[in-house]
Amino acid sequence: MHPFAYVAPSTVEEAVAVLDEHGDRARPLAGGTDLLVKARANVWELDAVVDVKNIPELMNLEVGKNGLSIGAGVPCYQVYENDQVADEYPGIIDGTSIIGGIQIQSRAGLGGNLCNAAPSGDGIPALIAHSAVARIAGPNGTREVAVEEFCTGPSRTVIEPGELLVSIEVPKPAANSGAAYTRFIPRNEMDIAVAGVGVYVVLDNSGNNFESARIALASVGPIPILANEAGDSLSGKPVNDETIAAAAKLARNAASPITDMRGTIEQRKHLIEVLTDRMIKQAVERAKG
Ligand SMILES: Cc1cc2nc3c(=O)[nH]c(=O)nc-3n(C[C@H](O)[C@H](O)[C@H](O)COP(=O)(O)OP(=O)(O)OC[C@H]3O[C@@H](n4cnc5c(N)ncnc54)[C@H](O)[C@@H]3O)c2cc1C
Repeated sequence: MHPFAYVAPSTVEEAVAVLDEHGDRARPLAGGTDLLVKARANVWELDAVVDVKNIPELMNLEVGKNGLSIGAGVPCYQVYENDQVADEYPGIIDGTSIIGGIQIQSRAGLGGNLCNAAPSGDGIPALIAHSAVARIAGPNGTREVAVEEFCTGPSRTVIEPGELLVSIEVPKPAANSGAAYTRFIPRNEMDIAVAGVGVYVVLDNSGNNFESARIALASVGPIPILANEAGDSLSGKPVNDETIAAAAKLARNAASPITDMRGTIEQRKHLIEVLTDRMIKQAVERAKG
């Protein structure tokens, strides 16, 4: 492995300065559960690794009146052990609590999951379904990018050399809303998703009709997919098996998977339809309390 400097700044400005100095020969380090594997495999030749865990903004987890702010270095266990997050954002808990096992969850976080940009990233679909936004700092200031636009290809994101993900901002869930995420894996745990689905629904006050919905898919394209047509198809429709099945079919059509050692195109499309149907129903149940 190429030798590199380990830098542990305590402010966003210092981190950006180091990242900017080294360009694409430096990378931020959060939990390191992806970074160290790739560095050992010589995926990159790095001059510097910038540990973000001493930067207060990146370690901040806050449920405020406008929503949830998840610092880019906050480990998964802190997210799913937070009662307020569990109460208001159960879909995010679904994703966070299945990333690896307990050892991985004590280091790895949603920030690293997103920046790693694996199409199978379990943390990403629920964030997309919740209309989350990534807050990015760089040499020219800060900018915000919708999470569904953050990944640009496998292992590629909108983050430019010199930039750093600071936090993920998730809006406050609407009244009568619910969310859920699940994946299909051949084993019970510790495996890469063959297909995954995250759903967020808002019901009307009667609970009998959908007001809106967002559906996001994992592992069935080069990036996590926001299945717009599937989500929009539910708006104004009654909550019943027929409308849910029709949305699940549209989600299947939005998937563009490949065949690989973990699954075939046909199997993955089928899984998306089944999992979408289930997750809409689960999100509806949660919306009804
Ligand atoms: C045994 C094992 C099991 C796993 N199981 C799963 C699983 O079930 N589901 C799943 O989705 N993933 C899984 N993973 C992958 C990995 O654990 C997750 O993707 C995790 O969320 C990565 O988070 P991290 O904090 O460790 O990121 P890191 O490894 O620290 O970083 C990941 C990438 O993001 C970049 N990065 C980190 N922080 C920032 C930042 N603030 N700004 C810009 N770029 C940044 C890094 O430079 C690196 O390229 C597993 C990994 C292992 C080793």
